[in-house]
Amino acid sequence: MKVNPELIDEIKKYGAFDISACFNCGNCTAVCPLAKEDISFPRKLIRAGHIGLEEKLFSGAEPWHCYYCGECSATCPREAQPGEYMMALRRYQIAKYDITGLSKIFYQNGWLQTCLALGLLGAFYWLYSAYTGDFGALAGKIELAFPVYVTVALGGYLLNMYRHNIVKPLGGIKLSFKPAHIWETFLHGFTQKNFLGCEETDWWRWVSHLLVMTGYTLTLVISNLHLLEPLNKHYGFFSPASLLVWYAGLAIIVGGGSMSLRRMFKSAESSKFSHPSDWLFVVTMFLIGASMLATQYVNVTQGPESALLNGLYRFNIAVETVWILLIVPFTKWIHIFFRPLAVYFQHVKKEAEAGTAFSLSLGK
Ligand code: SF4
Ligand code: SF4
Repeated sequence: MKVNPELIDEIKKYGAFDISACFNCGNCTAVCPLAKEDISFPRKLIRAGHIGLEEKLFSGAEPWHCYYCGECSATCPREAQPGEYMMALRRYQIAKYDITGLSKIFYQNGWLQTCLALGLLGAFYWLYSAYTGDFGALAGKIELAFPVYVTVALGGYLLNMYRHNIVKPLGGIKLSFKPAHIWETFLHGFTQKNFLGCEETDWWRWVSHLLVMTGYTLTLVISNLHLLEPLNKHYGFFSPASLLVWYAGLAIIVGGGSMSLRRMFKSAESSKFSHPSDWLFVVTMFLIGASMLATQYVNVTQGPESALLNGLYRFNIAVETVWILLIVPFTKWIHIFFRPLAVYFQHVKKEAEAGTAFSLSLGK
């Protein structure tokens, strides 16, 4: 197996841990409520980092089974921050799987992505404000960036993850079509229910994620199905479109706001260390919810001709554009897919061992 003596130095660029302090006692794995016999972390992965086993670190799905409960970091006798090491590994894998190479640049250059996001926000707001034609049609065309992104960039991430986790180690294409496995994969993706496996269950953290997830999904539905036309229609406070916006906006504000406050006050192990991209993620999410809510409120109270509404709606669409182009592809948003896939891969591996997985050999 290829050894990379610079590996730990490279991973250090993705997180704030001190693995040189680790004396390999194994306490972190012993206290981790999510580690299992067949999915062992974090000690084994720390050891792999120490000895430079690069392939092991970017071809295993273990980092995605860690939900940053923080129990390992809280009890590590050397304060080596193993939980943060797992977080760094997730960023490292995202950078490795990204076919554009931009994730690596953004993760390793602190605030570069934030500066770019601010520049793009200003540019799109200016563009939307200066545009004299059909603003809704222009926004619709820009929203097309999302399906294009899903196909190209996200497809690249997922194929790379599959190739390194399944195809290479198992020698071909292996799949499981068992309904129970497919259902569990979706359930994990939507609810991130493994959070609840943490010993000191942090209910509010889980609820915040669920609020953000449901609010965000609803926002996607609202904008992609064009359910809102705030510049053309006057909505009632209790109209179906308004009710959807009240829920989506409030869920994002409460969930995203709570995540921001945790990071600000470092109130839990999982929020002690924040990469600039973590801030960019939660703050942009908060802005989407707040501007969407404000736009609808002004429409309801002042009508579609309001000058304030015009400005707010353009700002809302400008933030959503930056979100789609810069945040979705290159921040922790991608966890939405990687975590449930890690669960699915575990089933595929077990089925492959038992000889019951769908199998397609690619030959040598
Ligand atoms: S990270 Fe800490 S708890 Fe884990 S093996 Fe190293 S010293 Fe022990
Ligand atoms: S952060 Fe939590 S889930 Fe992750 S390795 Fe540590 S104890 Fe386990």
